[in-house]
Amino acid sequence: VLMLFAINSAQAQKNKKMDTNKPVNERVEELLAKMTLEEKVGQMNQYNGFWEVTGPAPKEGNAAIKYEHLRKGWVGSMLTVRGVDQVRAVQKIAVEETRLGIPLIIGFDVIHGYKTLSPIPLAEAASWDMAAIRKSAETAAAEASASGINWTFGPMVDISRDARWGRVMEGAGEDPFLGSKVAEARVKGFQGDTRADLAKPNTIAACAKHFAGYGFAEAGRDYNTVDMGNATLYNTVLPPFKAANEAGVRTYMNSFNILNGVPATGNSFLQRDILKGKWGFDGFVITDWASIREMINWGYAKDGAEASLKAVTAGADMDMESHLYVAELVKLVNEGKVDITLVDDAVRRILRVKFELGLFDDPYRYCDPKREKATIGSKANHEAVLDMARKSIVLLKNDNQTLPIKKNGQKIAVIGALAADKNSPLGSWRIASDNNTAVSVLEGLQQYKGNTLTFEKGTELIEGEATFLQEVVYNTTDRSGFEAAKKAANQADIVIMVLGEHGFSSGEGRSRTNLDLPGLQEELLEEIYKVNPRIVLVLNNGRPLALPWADAHIPAIVEAWHLGTETGNAVAQVLYGDYNPSGKLPMSFPRNVGQVPIYYNIHSTGRPTNADDNVFWSHYSDVEKTPLYPFGYGLSYSTFQYSKPVLDKTTYAKGEPVKVSVTIKNTGNYDGKEVAQLYIRDVFASLSRPVKELKGFELVDLKKGESKTITFTLTDKELGFYNNNGNYLVEPGIFKVFVGTSSDDVQEVEFELK
Ligand code: BGC
Repeated sequence: VLMLFAINSAQAQKNKKMDTNKPVNERVEELLAKMTLEEKVGQMNQYNGFWEVTGPAPKEGNAAIKYEHLRKGWVGSMLTVRGVDQVRAVQKIAVEETRLGIPLIIGFDVIHGYKTLSPIPLAEAASWDMAAIRKSAETAAAEASASGINWTFGPMVDISRDARWGRVMEGAGEDPFLGSKVAEARVKGFQGDTRADLAKPNTIAACAKHFAGYGFAEAGRDYNTVDMGNATLYNTVLPPFKAANEAGVRTYMNSFNILNGVPATGNSFLQRDILKGKWGFDGFVITDWASIREMINWGYAKDGAEASLKAVTAGADMDMESHLYVAELVKLVNEGKVDITLVDDAVRRILRVKFELGLFDDPYRYCDPKREKATIGSKANHEAVLDMARKSIVLLKNDNQTLPIKKNGQKIAVIGALAADKNSPLGSWRIASDNNTAVSVLEGLQQYKGNTLTFEKGTELIEGEATFLQEVVYNTTDRSGFEAAKKAANQADIVIMVLGEHGFSSGEGRSRTNLDLPGLQEELLEEIYKVNPRIVLVLNNGRPLALPWADAHIPAIVEAWHLGTETGNAVAQVLYGDYNPSGKLPMSFPRNVGQVPIYYNIHSTGRPTNADDNVFWSHYSDVEKTPLYPFGYGLSYSTFQYSKPVLDKTTYAKGEPVKVSVTIKNTGNYDGKEVAQLYIRDVFASLSRPVKELKGFELVDLKKGESKTITFTLTDKELGFYNNNGNYLVEPGIFKVFVGTSSDDVQEVEFELK
C-alpha cells in the first residue's frame, strides 16, 4: 500500500510539474492522452459532499460508494464542500490517491454572498449600479475562495415576468437589457476581467444558469413546463446568457425544465447549436441537480442509459448528482452507442477550466487557513454588503412629511414580527452563513438616538421554524398581539411597520399563488392604521408583491427586500435620511395576482385610439391595465427634473451612432442619485416590436440644485432584434426614443434610420 502511495504521489507531483509555460490547450491534450475511458467519465461526474473529515471514512451506503469513486478517480468535482480543511481533505484524495492525480473543481451556490451576505440578487438589481453589483460578487468570491471553493453556481440570469415564481429572488428581474448588464457585472465580479484573472486565488469560476427558459415556468410554478415561441426565446431569454458568455463566463448550468417539449438537459439546439456553436463557448456545461435522471420523469428517456446518451449527445458535460454518467457512459462508449469524441470534448472543456483556475499548479491554492480566517466576515466585507444593501432599497411612496424621520424626540412604535427578526432578512440561498446573523431593523433603529422606541410584534409571522428545506407556514389564527400593538401605535407619533415575506418564502420550490402580505399582516396593518395612520411601511420580500390597499392609504412605503447581513443598518440609514434611496424596481409590481405575468416591454395589442366601443381591447374589466409600480420606478428624498431629450441628428445612416442627450436637475432639498433610463421603440419592423425596450441607463450623482447633461449612444447593438430564426436584424425606419425616470414616466423624441 505504501508503495502504491509513493507511486501515486510521484505521479501527482509529475502532473503538478507539467510544463506550466505551455498553453492550456496543449496541457489539456497531454493529459487527455494519458486518460483511460473510466478516468474520462470520472471527470464528468460531480457528487454532493458526503464526507466530514472530522469523522471516519464512510464504510457503507451511498457515501461509501462516492468515497470509493473518489479514490478511483471517478469524480471530477464536488459541490457543497466548504472550509479549507474539508476541501483539502477531499482534494488530497483526488490528487494523491488517484492514478493521475487530477484535482477536483469545488462548486458551491454562492448566490448573494458567502458568509457575509449581500442583498438577494433581485434586490441588488434594483440598485442599477453595476460597479456595486460587481463589487458584491468580488466580495462573495473572496470569501468563498478563502473557504476552499473555486466555482460558484451563479449568476442566475433567468429572466422572469412572473412574481409567483419563487426564484425571481435569484435573478435580475424582468428585463433582458438590465439582466444582461447585471450578468456581465456578476461574471466579472466572480472571475475578473480576463481568463488570466481566473488563476488568482481570490477569484472563482462563474456559472450562468439555468440554460434555458426556466424563468418561464407555466403559471410561475417551479419546475413546470416551459413552452415559448422563438421571439421570446431569442429576444428575452437568451440575451443575458449571451452577455455572460461575452463577459467570459466559464460554465453554464442547464435546467430542470422542458423547452417546447425537449428537456433543457437533453437539448442539442440550446447546448450544442446555440451555446457551443453560434456563441463559441469553450467552457463546460453542468447539469442541474440530477436533471439527467429527470429526463426519465419527463418521459423523454426510458432509462438511465438512454438519459445519459441523450444528455451527452446534447452537450451536457458534467452530471450533477444523478450518478448516471458514472454508471452508464463507459458501457455506452464500449457498445459504440456514444462516440468517444463526445466524451473527449466534455473532458477537454472540464480540464481546461481546471487548468485556468490554476488547480494543476497548486491544487491547495484555495486552502489557506490564514486567508480563510482573515477574509471571512472581515470588516471590509461587512462594509461592502452594507453599501450594497443601502443601494438596493427602493422608496415606493412618500408624502414628504413622513420620511426621512426627524430626530426630534418623537415616540416611534416599531411593529411587526419581521422588525426583530435576525434570520429572515438573510433571505433564501445562504447555505454557508449562520442563522440569526442579520442586523434586524429594530437593532438598526435602536442605534439612532433622539427618539424613543417601543416594539410590538403585533402578530407572530410563522408557525414553527422556517428552514431552507421546509415550506414556511404562516400564522393565520393567533391575533393575541394585536391589542398591545394597537396601544403602542396609539401612543406613538409615528409607526414603523416591518411586514412582508419570510426569507424562506422565496427561492427554489417556493412559488406562491398570492402576492399579498401573508398570514395576518394585512389585517394588522389595517387595524393599526385605524388608530394611527402615520405609518412607514418597510417591506421585506423576495418578489414583487401586490399591495393596492397599502399604496392607497399608507403615507410612506420602503421596499427593503431581504438585504442580507447588514439589513437593519441599511434600513435605518435610509429611514433617517443618512442615505438617500436611489433604487428602481427591476420587476413590475402588480395590482393583483390576476395581472401576472405583467411587464413593461409588452407589444401593442391594438387598443383602438378612436374606437366606438370600450370593451374589445386587451384589458381586464375589474382592474386598471397598468401595474401598481412599474419597471424602473423608484423615488428619492429629492426630486429630479428632466429636459426633453435631444438627438444630435434626425436621420442616421445604418451603423452610425445615435446620440441622445438629456439634462437632469436635482430640484429637491437633498443630494441624491437618479437612474436615468432610455427606452426605444422600433415603430414598424418585420416582426412586431415591444412598445418600449430599455436600451440604456445611467446612475447620475446630483447635489441639490445641480444639473448634469448626459449622453446615451445607441448603436446596432441596441437598435436591432432577433427574428424567429435567431438572426439579428437592424431594420431601417422610424424609431422612438424615450428618456425618463421610470418605464412609464418618460419624454419622447424620434429619428429615422436610413
Ligand atoms: C438548483 C440549482 C443549484 C443546484 C445545486 C438545484 O436544485 O436548481 O440552481 O445550483 O441545485 O445546489
